[in-house]
Amino acid sequence: MPQRIADSGPPAVASSPNRRGAERHSRKCQICRHPLRAVIERTFVSRRSPSRIAQQFGFNDRSTIYRHAHATQLFELRGTQRGPFF
Ligand SMILES: [Zn+2]
Repeated sequence: MPQRIADSGPPAVASSPNRRGAERHSRKCQICRHPLRAVIERTFVSRRSPSRIAQQFGFNDRSTIYRHAHATQLFELRGTQRGPFF
């Protein structure tokens, strides 16, 4: 007789954890609070190198760009858009 594993895990989270993560992200993120956020995002989506973007807009390093891109799903946009170099 196979042993049944009890369903003792936590119930599925009803509210989107993604959204809550995004709120926490934007509180700490330099890009989210940047006046030129839209420009930065557009530049990223058009496949400009993140380290160049960081340099151009005065961020410490490209990890700021990557964090923001992950939190706001910019990588997906980047994947669906053909940049000017393709
Ligand atoms: Zn951000």
